[in-house]
Amino acid sequence: MHGSIMKNHNPRFRLSRTAGAIAMLALSACAVNPATGGRMFSLVSEGQEIEMGQQAMLQVDAGMGLYDDPALQAYVDSVGQAMAAVSERPELPWSFKVVDDPVINAFALPGGPVYLARGIMAHFNTEAEMASVLGHEIGHITARHSVEQISRAQLMQIGLVAGVVLVPELRPFGDALGGGLAILFLKFGRDDESQSDELGFRYMSRLGYDPQGAVDMFEILERQRDASGGAIPEWQSTHPDPGNRVLAAEQRLATSRIEGGLVRRDEYMQRIDGMLFGKDPAQGFFVDGRFVHPTLRMQFRFPQGWDTQNAPTSVLAQSPEGDAVMQLTAAEGDTPEEAATAFFDQDGIQRLGARSRTVNGLRAVQGTFRIELQQGTLDGQVLFVKHGDLVFRFLGYTTSERMGTYAVTFERSLETFAPMNEERWINLEPKRLEIVRVPDEMTAERFFQRFPSTVTLETVRRINGWDQGHVIAAGTLAKRVVGEGVPGDE
Ligand SMILES: [Zn+2]
Repeated sequence: MHGSIMKNHNPRFRLSRTAGAIAMLALSACAVNPATGGRMFSLVSEGQEIEMGQQAMLQVDAGMGLYDDPALQAYVDSVGQAMAAVSERPELPWSFKVVDDPVINAFALPGGPVYLARGIMAHFNTEAEMASVLGHEIGHITARHSVEQISRAQLMQIGLVAGVVLVPELRPFGDALGGGLAILFLKFGRDDESQSDELGFRYMSRLGYDPQGAVDMFEILERQRDASGGAIPEWQSTHPDPGNRVLAAEQRLATSRIEGGLVRRDEYMQRIDGMLFGKDPAQGFFVDGRFVHPTLRMQFRFPQGWDTQNAPTSVLAQSPEGDAVMQLTAAEGDTPEEAATAFFDQDGIQRLGARSRTVNGLRAVQGTFRIELQQGTLDGQVLFVKHGDLVFRFLGYTTSERMGTYAVTFERSLETFAPMNEERWINLEPKRLEIVRVPDEMTAERFFQRFPSTVTLETVRRINGWDQGHVIAAGTLAKRVVGEGVPGDE
């Protein structure tokens, strides 16, 4: 079944415990960095590095979800494996996967797992461009950047780990995509970025890829940054620009001897034909202040004016003042009563009250709870509601002092949970890439007229890598976007 909030386990909590335990057990050791030859200070042995990465991989696969296209996954893995095989650490358990995420991002876990988001896949136009990003991520792993980061982060956090929230649900909003997973999205330093760029270039060259692909890729990322107008896209937030990246890549290009290197444009374009583009309606979306989920056939409203987020395992909202949070997830149990019992049985949760009721015709249990933390006391309201095959848990919490202010707000929001049967949303087609062969030479404008898209001309330009005034050669494979998609998603 589709729908990310189906995945009701919490990957973050387990991961942070695992990584914490590993770091605490680890002895400090000096080692020679395999990719750079330099000496490095590391708390983590190679075995631990691999173990950490494999654990985290399971969490990412389940928590973020893989893009459902076995042929595309196999293709990305084969390109990645070939590159890893010419790296300094060919023996690692390498894996290369596409996560079902519309953002422009790529990341590496310790000891082998590499991920591309389908959003960055939509922006590549050649296999060489994809190889440049895979090579860069492989570089983070061969140079053990995340291991060093984790060593450092864990050193700082060891004292905190034991005290981290007993109840994973009650994490601050900013942590929604982070928590334990934050460890995977650690910011690398600029030096690490430069080094990975260089290593990626090395692996591309060894396989005979045209290194121009790296230059093109960095230009795509720069264009994206400019287009986002100040907002920091994911890639930039995890991979800070080392500065003059395009220039550095051009210099490497000038000194390399590869001519007529592999580009594989048509091969790449054919692979991504039909790939989802933008948000997938099947994962649920916000429309007119309402969250609707076409596959789970449900809807609800968060309080007006709250910041909302459709995260992989939950849907979240935070009050404008940042002092209250609401969250919807799938709960464990077959009935609202079972789910409520499991919730209130958790260590650290005091049950203040609970009663059976119905909400918009659905069987439910509603209750209030309290949690004592070192930092203070939290009060919350929770609703367990059965709909279809699932029990949903909808909760709101704030500090005890603020509960008086928010009690009615929470109550009103919980009562909006209802079945959703509107054909318009149930039948909403996602946006997809469609690859077309351009019949004769034409401008981007002409292409946009001849092969209309459900996104703007600017977006079509950006995903095709066309500058202003670019003329498309006859016979080129180009991307258009079809399908209505989620309202307001460009
Ligand atoms: Zn990087």
